[in-house]
Amino acid sequence: MFKAIYLDKNEAGFSAGVRELDDDALATHAADGDVTVRIAYSTVNYKDGLAIANRSPVVRKWPMVAGIDGAGVVEASSNPAFRPGDRVVLNGWGVGETHWGCLSGKARLKGAWLVPLPATLGEREAMAIGTAGYTSMLCVMALADAGVKPADGEVLVTGAAGGVGSVAVALLAGRGYRVVASTGRAAEADYLKGLGATEVIDRTALSEPGKPLQKERWAGVVDCVGSHTLANACAQTRYGGAVAACGLAQGMDFPSSVAPFILRGVHLAGVDSVMCPMPRRSAAWAALAAELDRGRLAAMTTEIALAEAIAMAPEVLAGKVRGRLVVDVNR
Ligand code: NDP
Repeated sequence: MFKAIYLDKNEAGFSAGVRELDDDALATHAADGDVTVRIAYSTVNYKDGLAIANRSPVVRKWPMVAGIDGAGVVEASSNPAFRPGDRVVLNGWGVGETHWGCLSGKARLKGAWLVPLPATLGEREAMAIGTAGYTSMLCVMALADAGVKPADGEVLVTGAAGGVGSVAVALLAGRGYRVVASTGRAAEADYLKGLGATEVIDRTALSEPGKPLQKERWAGVVDCVGSHTLANACAQTRYGGAVAACGLAQGMDFPSSVAPFILRGVHLAGVDSVMCPMPRRSAAWAALAAELDRGRLAAMTTEIALAEAIAMAPEVLAGKVRGRLVVDVNR
């Protein structure tokens, strides 16, 4: 038996709770998996918050075990690429949405979705990073691919005190960029400077409607927020600079014009973590293992027990959680 965050929707309505499950339940509800993983740690990402709080249609099959991320040890495998004892990390692929997820003591997953955990990364560290941190690295890689170098000038991170933002600040600072962190939480300025930000700005400077072209400031941007913030970030990006767009915390809209793209050659790079092909995924995890400062990772991480994930979901959605939540699924 193992415990899991179990989500259900039926005539009685929606429910989220901790439930004891067994291997038979996994065999029935995750029948297409070919690798059984004993999960050690999971996390509560923004998307997990949406699923657990039933705020938007993340879950598309009921009942569902929540958890889009997991790290643990292979218990059994009929996939030749994995053997019992292998340490693996899982992010996305619809897990926790259409396939039973990893806020659970055990998960039955497809080997094609699993990344072998880099030797220098523990399961707890992997989930302190989670989809949020792995997305941050995809954004940093997108800026590098677009040719943004530390010598080019300041880079902006929006939604900086959140999960993606916190890891992005630490990663960019680690690569030698001058990082400006935009946050709505002035009280977190010291936290953000501790992660490597050189300057902290109030997010209201970016969140209101603005002109299509504004004073050029950013060599690059990691945007977790969308809406007017993304539009203003593009309008302030320097000639030839790049913006990596991964989030929608302010809104899904993009009230911008083509001006930054056709008059300043600004490059807008979309970043998706869920269906990201395996070679880029593996490259991102290898880079995270090599580059992410473990002290900074520890500073942005709070550990909770499995049942606490339910109470934390609305807190995550309200933007009240600083950095990253890691869930000990066996506690
Ligand atoms: P968090 O909730 O941890 O952080 C989001 C941050 O956005 C908050 O901490 C806050 O930062 C800021 N924010 C919240 N509400 C608003 C608002 N109304 N206006 C402006 N800023 C706001 O979430 P994550 O970091 O995990 O995820 C960030 C975004 O990225 C989410 O939208 C998520 O869905 C998306 N995402 C996308 C992925 C992809 O594959 N493309 C993968 C992972 C996440 P502060 O307090 O500093 O102002």
